[in-house]
Amino acid sequence: MSTVKTAELVAIDERRLLRRLDDLAQRGALPGGGIFRALYTPAWTSAMELVTTWLKEGQLLTRRDAVGNVWGRIEGSRGGRAIVTGSHIDTVRGGGALDGALGLVAGIEAVTSLWERFGRPTRTLECVAICEEEGSRFDTNFWGARAIADRIEPNEAERTRDAAGTSLADAMRSVGLDPANAVQAVRRDIDVFVELHIEQGPVLEDHGPRLGVVTTITGTIHQEIVVRGQPDHAGAMAMSRRHDALVGASAMTLAIAELATRMGDPAVATVGTIVVEPAQVNVVPGIARFTVDARHPDAPRRTELITQIGDACKAAARERGLVVEIRTLRDRPPVTLSPRVADVLRRACRAAGLDPRDMASGAGHDAQVLAAAANTGMLFVPSIGGRSHCPEEATAAEDVVLGTRALASALRELAYQQ
Ligand SMILES: [Zn+2]
Repeated sequence: MSTVKTAELVAIDERRLLRRLDDLAQRGALPGGGIFRALYTPAWTSAMELVTTWLKEGQLLTRRDAVGNVWGRIEGSRGGRAIVTGSHIDTVRGGGALDGALGLVAGIEAVTSLWERFGRPTRTLECVAICEEEGSRFDTNFWGARAIADRIEPNEAERTRDAAGTSLADAMRSVGLDPANAVQAVRRDIDVFVELHIEQGPVLEDHGPRLGVVTTITGTIHQEIVVRGQPDHAGAMAMSRRHDALVGASAMTLAIAELATRMGDPAVATVGTIVVEPAQVNVVPGIARFTVDARHPDAPRRTELITQIGDACKAAARERGLVVEIRTLRDRPPVTLSPRVADVLRRACRAAGLDPRDMASGAGHDAQVLAAAANTGMLFVPSIGGRSHCPEEATAAEDVVLGTRALASALRELAYQQ
């Protein structure tokens, strides 16, 4: 990758950008509020058709790849490895209008504006609507980005199922895709991937400025913790003789939250699910199972947090005569994004009028997967109230426009170099 060391403000069509965000938010809109566009469902297909229309309106060469990612392409006059922007089209259940959608619609706006104003780029320039990121239907995530980065496991589509028991492979067939061809989605010719995204947290809103350049994407571990005690009669067994698994799990939950709080931002740890057995009103719980999601963008600090959580759970179990088992479900180390793309993004933010904040992303993103296949960068705009993955997810229109302008400036520098 080589770049010219300039950045200029690129004009975009603000009204088209905001109107398209509104239009996309109608696809998969739930009657009670919020949006649900799950992979390979009718709402997803309808959203992909809308995006395809926009790409064609912009005179981009449009195609759907082997897993359903939709690409729009402008061939560069000098060819070479591609400059790509975009984000995911799927949402969580009851999600908002911007997670994924912003990077996708802004990417189309930025590329279309560049094409309209400056003509053919020297480098090939593409937009991508990534088919799935959230893991909100199947027991898998980053399906679209992993397909591009050659990270899909053999037979994964046949093995992976949704809550209704439908395999990912059958869901692919239902939208006209052949799971046997998934490997054809692999791209080895991407030079740069840039993703604009909402922050999904409160840092930019609370501390400013209105743009953030992501340097690192946090590392996440998911664990299942099983606490085994002894089921007993809730009336007859004395408190002093009990081995209550839920009391133990509760002490562990409090300890986990305290450990992350004591470590300080950006350490976070969450107990998101808990179930007990036998789950009866008059029985002391014999077993409690809960999950932990713990994150830190710094690898040694993340390891320290995980160790502390394990130690605290063992200590809480010992104190109460309980047995604890800890199993890792998923372990994704922190990912460092490309310093060179970050430099391009910083210059683009300055061209748009402000000095951006360098920051770590606490959420996972397609960019962390694509970082294995390309020089990858991410740009954040503020989330109002830090809210995301909910119907209230929102960003001020002026920040949506600002972020899109900065994205367009970055793509101008990357794709129009002489
Ligand atoms: Zn997202």
